Amino acid sequence: MKFGFDIDDTLLNLREHAFLIYNEKLHRQIGLEVFQALKTISVHEAFGLTLEEGRDLWNAYRDEIYYTAPPFPNAVEVLSELVKLGHEVYYVTARAAEHCERTKASLESAGFPVENGRFYCGMGDLEKIHVIRKLGLDYYFDDKPAVLDTLSELGLQLYTKDNGYNRHLSVPRIVDWRELLDLLPKS
Ligand SMILES: [Mg+2]
Repeated sequence: MKFGFDIDDTLLNLREHAFLIYNEKLHRQIGLEVFQALKTISVHEAFGLTLEEGRDLWNAYRDEIYYTAPPFPNAVEVLSELVKLGHEVYYVTARAAEHCERTKASLESAGFPVENGRFYCGMGDLEKIHVIRKLGLDYYFDDKPAVLDTLSELGLQLYTKDNGYNRHLSVPRIVDWRELLDLLPKS
């Protein structure tokens, strides 16, 4: 079967990593419980920053955040297991074009299985549907409500990676990546 994955906040723990970096750069010690209570995808609210200040901070540290964000627990292991079981693993990320090559390389160095022709990058959030339809994915995983909302018309198994800003969605959710293996038909 074909499995597709968003990257940021689906496979990589990007927001929490950004939050920790902001704490360090701004010499603040905001507790993780503040982060966990956020209902927004952006994290600058936790620091009392305006949208513009948040954007400047993100732009200043984006590369560091992108290329040092750790995978969620069990993500690498479970995707590797899927490949071992003969499934196809695809990545579909809306990171901007200039980040595509480095993003692919950093996934590989984190241990994710990245096969030729199975890494899609640089499209807008709302263009993901075209890639996903063309690939004929059986399963797709994403964290972002605006993306998931566009995909409900496709006849695939849609899951969200659990996060504070997507708990209102009725789409089935993955909290720990090990749960994915339980979704597979038992042979
Ligand atoms: Mg995402």
